[in-house]
Amino acid sequence: MPMYEFACRACGAEFEELCTAAEAAAGKVACPACGARKSERKLSTFASKDGGSGGGGGGGCGHGSHGGFG
Ligand SMILES: [Zn+2]
Repeated sequence: MPMYEFACRACGAEFEELCTAAEAAAGKVACPACGARKSERKLSTFASKDGGSGGGGGGGCGHGSHGGFG
């Protein structure tokens, strides 16, 4: 179950609650502060996906020379 952030429209308290997406959308989550079921789901604060930057890695070609010291 994902965790959603809610903002109570009755008292203005903000809280997080584990619930299903349907419950979150319906706003049936009771406010822990006042108990009102007028919670409004806030925008998720999940970390945005970071695209891998920087292309070009080590080539497959090897020098083929195993140097030995000494
Ligand atoms: Zn409240």
